[in-house]
Amino acid sequence: MDHLKAAIRTIPDYPKPGIQFRDVTTLLGDAGAFRAAVDAMVHPFAGKKIDCVAGIEARGFILGGAVAHQLSVGFVPVRKKGKLPYRTIGQSYELEYGVDEVEIHVDAVRPGERVLIVDDLIATGGTAEAAIRLLRQAGAEIVGCSFVIDLPDLGGARRLEALDVAVTSLVSFE
Ligand code: IMP
Repeated sequence: MDHLKAAIRTIPDYPKPGIQFRDVTTLLGDAGAFRAAVDAMVHPFAGKKIDCVAGIEARGFILGGAVAHQLSVGFVPVRKKGKLPYRTIGQSYELEYGVDEVEIHVDAVRPGERVLIVDDLIATGGTAEAAIRLLRQAGAEIVGCSFVIDLPDLGGARRLEALDVAVTSLVSFE
């Protein structure tokens, strides 16, 4: 996975001083790395029953769309509050300062559907946890959460595993 790690750009002090932003757009722009990342994200779930992929706004749409295509299943966008046109259900979650909310359409998944959640990066796990709670609220069964990048020092994977969700990631940055 070293070639994938090398394809991710790090931007110091973005969006604020002291933060090392892991920029996956450079990986997405590299045809070989994008292909390899999507293949590696799909691999652990090959042969498992998956009904759809849910991608978290916004980079989770790009990766999740590609993963859904490869698995030949549908795609559900998990969006920030107020962006979806039809009736929605929502789940709020805490940020460092304040709260945010993610939403899906009320009919985005059917009860019992097996859903794989995809995003570019897991940090504290707060966003993915909200997506898990939201999809479970809709009756979905979460097959797993797949990320390109894990920041293990922030404990996100452990937080999701405590919710009984399998977590996979391709590269980690300490
Ligand atoms: P968490 O909720 O703390 O796990 O943060 C994960 C969410 O924030 C994901 O939707 C990521 O796309 C975004 N995020 C946090 N840090 C970074 C970063 O360094 N690079 C790209 N996205 C990030």
